[in-house]
Amino acid sequence: MKTKLLYSCLLFAGMTGSAFAQESVDPAMVQKIRDEGLNHSKVMETAFYLTDVSGPRLSGSPSLKYSQEWAVTQLKSWGMVNAKREPWGKFGKGWQVEKNYAAITVPYYHAIVAIPKAWTPGTNGAIKGDVVLVKADTVTDLDKYKGTLHGKIVIFDTKAGVERTFKADAARYTDEELDAMAKATNQPATQRRAFDRNSPQFAAMAKARAMRTAINTFLMSENVGLVLSQARGSDGTVFTTNGASYADTAKAVAPELETGSEDYQRILRLVKAGIKVTMEADIKTRFFTDDLQGYDVVAEIPGTDKRLKDQVVMIGGHLDSWHGATGATDNAAGSAVMMETMRILKAVNFKPRRTIRIALWSSEEQGLFGSRGYVLNHFGDPKTMELKPEQGKLSAYYNLDNGTGKIRGIYLQGDSAAAPIFKAWLAPFKDLGANTITIRNTGSTDHVSFDAVGIPGFQFIQDALDYGSRTHHSNQDTYDKLSEDDLKQAATIVASFVYNTSQRDEMIPRKELPKAQPAIARN
Ligand SMILES: [Zn+2]
Repeated sequence: MKTKLLYSCLLFAGMTGSAFAQESVDPAMVQKIRDEGLNHSKVMETAFYLTDVSGPRLSGSPSLKYSQEWAVTQLKSWGMVNAKREPWGKFGKGWQVEKNYAAITVPYYHAIVAIPKAWTPGTNGAIKGDVVLVKADTVTDLDKYKGTLHGKIVIFDTKAGVERTFKADAARYTDEELDAMAKATNQPATQRRAFDRNSPQFAAMAKARAMRTAINTFLMSENVGLVLSQARGSDGTVFTTNGASYADTAKAVAPELETGSEDYQRILRLVKAGIKVTMEADIKTRFFTDDLQGYDVVAEIPGTDKRLKDQVVMIGGHLDSWHGATGATDNAAGSAVMMETMRILKAVNFKPRRTIRIALWSSEEQGLFGSRGYVLNHFGDPKTMELKPEQGKLSAYYNLDNGTGKIRGIYLQGDSAAAPIFKAWLAPFKDLGANTITIRNTGSTDHVSFDAVGIPGFQFIQDALDYGSRTHHSNQDTYDKLSEDDLKQAATIVASFVYNTSQRDEMIPRKELPKAQPAIARN
């Protein structure tokens, strides 16, 4: 047994080693790409226009449309062709905040940190009202408030306090952590337990959702002035979400503010102590229903090789963001890096063998809709695995959507045959800290849409910095949180990967075609 194992390890190492040895990398072109990406970068300029100039790029919002049109114009100005906003399908209503003011006036004045939940209405002008604590674990608990909440500002009791931690916000991967990732074995894709109807999680989710719906209906019937809910986060950081559906058929809900935990807890303590709290607020939001379609930005550098030019290499990341700030690390960072990648390749006068295509997705935050719609329109349907001819011509899709941190390596998404190839392609960037290849999957972003129809789709391993702890979906996600050196490094490495993928004689090796994934019924 032992000798056999030793023999197969030697064989695999030999194979990897030999496959690695066979994978050619053009050092002159790598050097040109490094020089352009590290010394002549425009990535921060691009990020500035996608963040400070465009604003919060919520799906369907004017700010997202502005950023998309700007990106199309910029890509054209760099020499890309077929640059456009491409519809992927029906999304729903657009929405944006146009006024957001709320403050305690009794027992003293204090303006609170709070953000309207996405797709909720405004207060219809300035309001003033007393804060009322609503305690309801069951629907019947609501009865005792009947007829008492008109124009009031409603707060709920919550066990969540204010998080205090001694842990630093930002962190980079340690060598030990990267080593453990490199040694990891492939984990089969986990069954989406949340939607397994028999699972306790599903039952709990369904119960919570039913209670939330009942509370919304009750508050609407009471015509409350405003609802306060405690946001995740501390130190003035508010992590934002949506308070209603974006569907054009969505039910109306009451105006609701995601409130900073410190302010929320102060109001709650006062009310619970029987001290009267009065607040004033003026929230104005706008819904957009003139165009319910969702759009992705696409553009190309056409291939030049007679045999390979109809084959494609794709890169991308989502451009939409939440509305608390300007979605800098999520995901102007990835979008700017991918645009910069295209600029670098043009600047070094690269004439690719295969066509290179960039896509900046929309509605990723609502469920990868932009990339799933694009894949459905171009490559195939994961529900039936009926594939389109283009599916066979896309060598690989590379994604960036894990914040502003630099690239430390790549997730193979189970595609072990790609390991020696990527090892060779990362080797020239060991000095920049990118050296790790893990067989693991990573999820919850747009490469998954490609993987679902059997196209090699990859997300790079990135340092987290303060993505999870501070910026991801929060009111702190501003241009200031971007790390210029990290973004330059990322664009340089992505440009090199795209170069190699385009020039390679063979396409990137593929895993076995996935089985059809019939839609799991949602109710
Ligand atoms: Zn994201």
